Order: sequence, then structure tokens, then C-alpha cells
Amino acid sequence: MKGILAAGEGRSWLVTPRNEGYQRLKDYILVKSRKVKAMAKETLLRVEGSSGIITLSGERDERGKWRWWVGGGGAGEESREWTDWPDVMLALDEEPWEEYAPIEVHPEFRSKIWGAVLQRTADPAGLIPWFRVCFPGDPVPDPRVWEEKCPLPRLAEAIARARDAVVLTGAGMSTESGIPDFRSSTGLWRNIDPRRVATVEAMETNPDLFRRFYGERLRNLADVRPHAGHYVLAEWAKQGIIRAVVTQNVDGLHHQAGSPEVYELHGTLRTARCHRCDNPADLEDFIEGRPCGVCGGPVRPNIVLFGELLPEEVWDQAIEAIRASSLLLVIGTSLEVYPVNQLPMLATGRKAIINGSETEWDHRFHQVIHAKIGKTLTKLDQLVKGMNG
Ligand SMILES: [Zn+2]
Repeated sequence: MKGILAAGEGRSWLVTPRNEGYQRLKDYILVKSRKVKAMAKETLLRVEGSSGIITLSGERDERGKWRWWVGGGGAGEESREWTDWPDVMLALDEEPWEEYAPIEVHPEFRSKIWGAVLQRTADPAGLIPWFRVCFPGDPVPDPRVWEEKCPLPRLAEAIARARDAVVLTGAGMSTESGIPDFRSSTGLWRNIDPRRVATVEAMETNPDLFRRFYGERLRNLADVRPHAGHYVLAEWAKQGIIRAVVTQNVDGLHHQAGSPEVYELHGTLRTARCHRCDNPADLEDFIEGRPCGVCGGPVRPNIVLFGELLPEEVWDQAIEAIRASSLLLVIGTSLEVYPVNQLPMLATGRKAIINGSETEWDHRFHQVIHAKIGKTLTKLDQLVKGMNG
């Protein structure tokens, strides 16, 4: 496809006359050229607890797009992008908001915020104050009517019963550990589309660029650690709940957290091999640009590059595990990439998805949770422990 590569706000994207990149570029130019003026600040949500009041504020521009922040909106606190609706609950996930009582909800977002609270609650009875603020004047129903709509307790029940569950994780799982999404680039790489560097062609024709690109990713890896969610999954495997973790991530964080059975569909950045003879090699050789000690070929990380096939054996193992599972938990992926986005269709049991934003496949899942992953898995683990203990 012909197009131009646009970059801004730490991202790069392909723009063709018809794709969504075109709209993003138009929006970006409008905002940067200050043709779009923000309107007055508005309070989106206020909650109060023992340690004070948390306020989420936002502003919209004349196109009706929003950006928002927690607190007073000082430098660095603003959300990065203008979006159609301010996902205030996702911002609030950084705080222990469950310990706070709601005081004020922006009238325009009452039902969205109510829906987001439903998704995050472990206890429907705790929703009564939220209902009162979101729907003032409406009679408060018996909280049992909300049980059906609360995905967390129902998903926890399924997890507590499961003996062969499979988890499929994507970039969102790693971003909470501080690893940037592969498809966004920052710093040195802000003008370069990773899809053009992470290819066999780039490795062969521009080895220095290729090595710098992965060298930086490897340096980032040295500082990252698994988050609470990785450890919950490892714990569930030890308890016999999870049979395997299938992942698109190449950072090895599931291994590091102690998950015993991990199928890495896109390989791993933690080891290297010779591109020509497949002989194992040291990552150091790759970073230093030393050739293979056996055949003299180029050394590369054990990842799957764009245009390469997924490792057949790992792929088959993943398919087999998913087919046999009674519960599939999809975490931190918007299921945009083929063929991985076909995997959930193979599952015949219960399916749940936990992701930071909506995906076009949400309607295929029994439970859908749009929230922070580490926090959601921790909450699920507490519920599972309560049921099993
Ligand atoms: Zn070799």
C-alpha cells in the first residue's frame, strides 16, 4: 500500500488517503497548529476518601474530543491524546478508588462511568453509592440485580473451578511493566516505523540500524520487572488452574515471574541464534555485531520478524492447549494482528477478555473487562482465594 509515514506524539503511523491514519494526521496538524482551541475545564469525576479528594478533570475542544488528567492538571499530567470520550475510570485505576466514595459525576458520562464501575467491582453491594451519584433521583434497586452484569465475580468463579485454563497475552500485559508497545516508538525512533526495521530485509540490508533498534529494546529490558499480574498468572499455574500461557510478547516476563509453561508465539528477545545455520549464539555477539562462530552468518535475536512465519511447534502447542481448555483468558491485546486474533475462535469453553480498551471482538467473549491488567488480576486472585479457601 502506498502512503506516507507520519510521526508525532511519540508515535508513527502510515497515512493513506483512506485509512484512519489520514484522520489522525488531520487531527494532529489541527491540534499542533493550535487551530483547535480547548474549551473550559470540566470536572469529570470526584471521589472522596480518608486521604482526601481525587478529582479527574478534562477539557474538550471544538471538535468534541477530550483530554483529561487526575488532579489539578499540572504539567505532565495531561492525557497524551485527544479521544472521543474521557476514559476516566482507566485514569483512576492508578488510585485505590474503591476506598473512596463518589461525590460528583459529569452528567454526560453517567452511564459510561456506571458501566466502568460495574466492570471493576468485586462486590455489587458496594455499588449503591455509585448508583446514587450516577442516577440521582432514581430509586436504588436491590444490588442483586447487578450481579449478572458484574464480570469480576463471575469470572472469578470460572477461574476457581478451572483446571486447564489457557491465557493469551499481548503488548498490554507488558506496557504495565514499562515496556513500550512495539507499534509505538519514542526517542531516537520516533520517525521510524518499527514495522520497517523489524524485518529480515532490514536485518540483511541495514544491519547497523537493525542492531541499534534491538540493542535499545534489550537495554530497556534490563530495567523491567514482571508486575503483579504476571505473578498472579504464575501462581494460578502452580495451583493447577492454568495449563499454559500463550504470549505475543518477546520480553520473557512470564518466565521471569515463574510461569512454568509459556508458549512464545513471536519468539524471545532473551536469546540469540545464527540467522544462517540456526546455531545458538550469545546476545552479546548480536549486540557487538560478531558473526556466528560456526558458519560466519549474522547473529540475530530469537524473535519472529515481520514477514517470517510463526514457530510451528509453539503455534501447534498453543492451538492444542486452547482447544482443550474450558476457560480462555485473553489479556492485554486488542486482537488486531493475524493470525493470533484467530486463536480465541478455537476455544469452545468460556472466554473472557481483560484489556485497556475496547476491541472489535469483545462481543465474542462471555466476560469483558476494560481496566488495568495488574489491578484486575490482583482483584480476581483475591476473589478466587476467597472461593477456594
Ligand atoms: Zn551460523
